[in-house]
Amino acid sequence: MLNKKVEDILNRQVEREAYSSNLYLAMAVWAECNGLEGTSKWLYAQSDEERMHMLKFISYINERGGRARITAIAEPPSEYKDVREVFDKVLKHEQFVSASINEIVEVTLNEKDFTTHNWIQYFVTEQIEEEASVQSIIDKLKLMGDHNIYMFDRDIMGMRSEGGSEE
Ligand code: MG
Repeated sequence: MLNKKVEDILNRQVEREAYSSNLYLAMAVWAECNGLEGTSKWLYAQSDEERMHMLKFISYINERGGRARITAIAEPPSEYKDVREVFDKVLKHEQFVSASINEIVEVTLNEKDFTTHNWIQYFVTEQIEEEASVQSIIDKLKLMGDHNIYMFDRDIMGMRSEGGSEE
């Protein structure tokens, strides 16, 4: 049975994974409407992945005798200056999510919930991969420069499987 503090912070993460999914969906729409087909595919896939994360939290909370809360989600930004701004914001957001996962680790230790501590390790690893994968995309954007966005957009899906797990 989950204690209240653990259940609450897991539910906070349900909302954050839902926001992540919607944030990347809004970015995908922006990319699609600006002729960036590859970039939009990458972002749609990323959005699906965040929804899978949300569902993992929901099923864990319910399985452990808690109850997942489905709340309203803040509207994500829909306008971006360019591709570089999109990926800078993806990286910043993933760093925020990593900090959020680390706070869950801290609560599980304080509450001596070693089952949840063990379960959350999947997401600790996942965040290392997410940050590395987005950083490598930003590195490639810097290498290619503003004049090669066409090539970047054509090649971005090939950069996808490098670090990230598909779950
Ligand atoms: Mg996630």
